[in-house]
Amino acid sequence: MTGLVIVGHGTRSAAGVDQFAALVERVRRRGDTGDVEGGFIELSRPPLTDAVGALVARGHRALVALPLVLTAAGHGKGDIPAAMAREQERHPGLTYRYGRPLGPHPLLHDALEQRIDAALSGADRADTVLSGADRADTVLSGADRADTWVALIGRGSTDPDANAEVAKVARLLWEGRGYAGVEPGFVSLAQPSVPAVLERLRRLGARRIVVAPYFLFAGVLPDRIVAQSAEFAAAHPDLEVRVAEVIGDCDALADLVRERYAEALGGDIRMNCDTCAYRVLMPGFADKVGRPQRPHDHPDDPVGHHHHGHGHDHGHGQHHEHGSVAVVGGGPGPDDLITVRGKALLDAADVVVVDRLAPQGLLAGLRPDVLVVDAAKVPRGPSMAQEAINAALVSHARAGRRVVRLKGGDPYVFGRGHEEVQACAAAGVPVTVVPGVSSAIAAPALAGVPVTHRGVAHDVTVVSGHLPPGHPDSLVDWAALARARGTVVLLMAVDTIAKIASVLIEHGRAPETPVLAVQDAGLPGQRSVPARLDEIGALAAREGIGPPAVFVLGPVVALATTGRTD
Ligand code: SAH
Repeated sequence: MTGLVIVGHGTRSAAGVDQFAALVERVRRRGDTGDVEGGFIELSRPPLTDAVGALVARGHRALVALPLVLTAAGHGKGDIPAAMAREQERHPGLTYRYGRPLGPHPLLHDALEQRIDAALSGADRADTVLSGADRADTVLSGADRADTWVALIGRGSTDPDANAEVAKVARLLWEGRGYAGVEPGFVSLAQPSVPAVLERLRRLGARRIVVAPYFLFAGVLPDRIVAQSAEFAAAHPDLEVRVAEVIGDCDALADLVRERYAEALGGDIRMNCDTCAYRVLMPGFADKVGRPQRPHDHPDDPVGHHHHGHGHDHGHGQHHEHGSVAVVGGGPGPDDLITVRGKALLDAADVVVVDRLAPQGLLAGLRPDVLVVDAAKVPRGPSMAQEAINAALVSHARAGRRVVRLKGGDPYVFGRGHEEVQACAAAGVPVTVVPGVSSAIAAPALAGVPVTHRGVAHDVTVVSGHLPPGHPDSLVDWAALARARGTVVLLMAVDTIAKIASVLIEHGRAPETPVLAVQDAGLPGQRSVPARLDEIGALAAREGIGPPAVFVLGPVVALATTGRTD
């Protein structure tokens, strides 16, 4: 099951850290969200890097990262994705699906309602924060609510959309619950402030006010809400002011985490893109449009300082200042013989540089904004092609893009994959290789031939036939291959098979050795042609065997099951 990392911002409040840890444990105990870890991007322990490190150590390469935030503001849009980007640098091949912020959500509104009712039914001292858990089941009369005004206090943000979310929650909390009214306010960065909203309610005629912090856990800001409410109450002894508990660790929150996890796995997670200040011009926020995120420093993150100030998008664009290249083996041809890791990287790519023999069907599934570069058509002529491809990989990565170099089969089996890895490494571009299912093994298998079999063949040699025996540049010891008894798989040998077969016989392979030519393995046109070693050259030509094809020869070929095995 996909691992879940719950990402908190961090707080100087020990109680807040404990509540976070308790929630992570509560989610973990449920057992229906896979492996769970929680970590903070700053201020508190454990740091995110430990949480991700633990999941990676337990074998996870694909995660759901759930920002434990109520609204999508700077932390959810910028800081947490940036922290996850650092984790991806630490753990090449790590991919993650990013969950939505938690609110607004009916589970949260119900929890807030319980906290408000608990405050109402509890002690009436203005500076008391009541225990929500103890009093949640107290039944209140409708009259209690009808006389009660609620000040719903959010964190406050420089992001207008995040503030609007708090206003929306205030409205939803009021709908149908019978409170006299619910007004939004903010404890930092946005207006109205706590005293301003309390004064507003007083002027509206409120006699009894419950201040409800729209906060997940204890922390410096919820404490400040209590202090400011107490100050206001002291100045207005005629008013009854109570402060509700924060939402806190509870089943409703664990349910919501589970829901966001399932949603992240299942689909297309978006924030409120239509009203995002980074996309659309909002009055007073013109400077935000198109601006990359600037995550603030994370003193608890060992590499945070080095990356301070680097940008990261938050789901609207493709620009990452940290570009990278993944050289991915796509398998022999069908869409579903790529590895899970390769597919995940492909899904996250901004640019895909694709070979002719790479699974073309995978391209149809790419996001429409992904740039697909056909490596076969990279300009500058065939002799320069590899250099041009290397240069393209490096330059896209340097421009901050996530580049996938999608190759057929395995990148390191006659795929020139390592040349590209070396070029990226030499240019200082982060590069990773993702092995693939090689046609050398898969094409025989898909045609029913095992390249080894107990008691039949204890060795298999994969050989490039692109140069015929005797060619001055050839590095193959054909005589040794002829003397060996096991399996030989020839790639790129359509033009040379006749010559190769006769040299093998000349050096001692039996003329009756069975050979199977397999063309277009795994693809709709797959076909195979069986022959003896002394006949294969003529037969392959007569049957029109063309690339891509492999020739497998040796005693294992006699074991072939008939028909396709896929
Ligand atoms: N890296 C690739 C091989 C690249 S060389 C891999 O690991 O599979 C290209 C050769 O691979 C072709 O000439 C052919 O011999 C073989 N090949 C690739 N795809 C094939 C397929 N679907 N069916 C048969 N042979 C294939």
